[in-house]
Amino acid sequence: MNKQGPGKIEWCDYTWSPITGCSNDCPYCFARAIHKRFRIPNAPTFHMKRLTEPLDRKKPAIIFACSMGEFFDDGLSAAYRCSVMQVMKEAYWHQFMILTKQAGRVQDFVHYYGPIPENVWIGVSVDGGGRSSEGIGTLKFADVPHHILCAEPLLQPYVADLTGYEWLIIGGVTDRRGKSKGLDKGDVDILRRCAEKTSTPVFVKDNAKYPEKIQEWPVAMLKVIETRTKAL
Ligand code: SF4
Repeated sequence: MNKQGPGKIEWCDYTWSPITGCSNDCPYCFARAIHKRFRIPNAPTFHMKRLTEPLDRKKPAIIFACSMGEFFDDGLSAAYRCSVMQVMKEAYWHQFMILTKQAGRVQDFVHYYGPIPENVWIGVSVDGGGRSSEGIGTLKFADVPHHILCAEPLLQPYVADLTGYEWLIIGGVTDRRGKSKGLDKGDVDILRRCAEKTSTPVFVKDNAKYPEKIQEWPVAMLKVIETRTKAL
């Protein structure tokens, strides 16, 4: 697992990559740029040797699972997804986040695997483009314990219906060196106003370069944050 925090992904403690790679072809893909830089294939790949890493870490942590790929990629066997989900269930003291651009495959996976563990949060990633509302509307009805909307990178002004979502994360485009130009303040403000309507907490990442520090956490995670702070 890779340690995160200020200057990296601020909303999690670790990233964990038992699955990497992705068949989607987003032009701004950070993972693909890193894979290219280190000459690692970007095809969806399962990494058996990383599978049980969260079980070795006994202190509670917030873990971003499969940050360098697409967990729901259909180029990957569902059996691998089940193995990863099983580890997350066994590591019940952690909170796991999975972000996807394939919201339409989430409910199929629920039918295949069974109930998603209570410590697993599923988020849809949108960039504000044409398919954003479709993804948000689809994930909302997926039978998962916690729904997140991740507007990163937010590429254009976008109005989101956050009904049913417990958390909104907003971020900018990061290049392969980890640098970001930031976001238009007005675009962030539009999404913040959407979140106000549904009382959804908002976390604006530093790479958005927003003039205020906005780092709100979902109610269901506050207890975890307390435990995590005591344990660190
Ligand atoms: S869905 Fe994510 S991992 Fe896949 S190409 Fe797009 S940005 Fe990259």
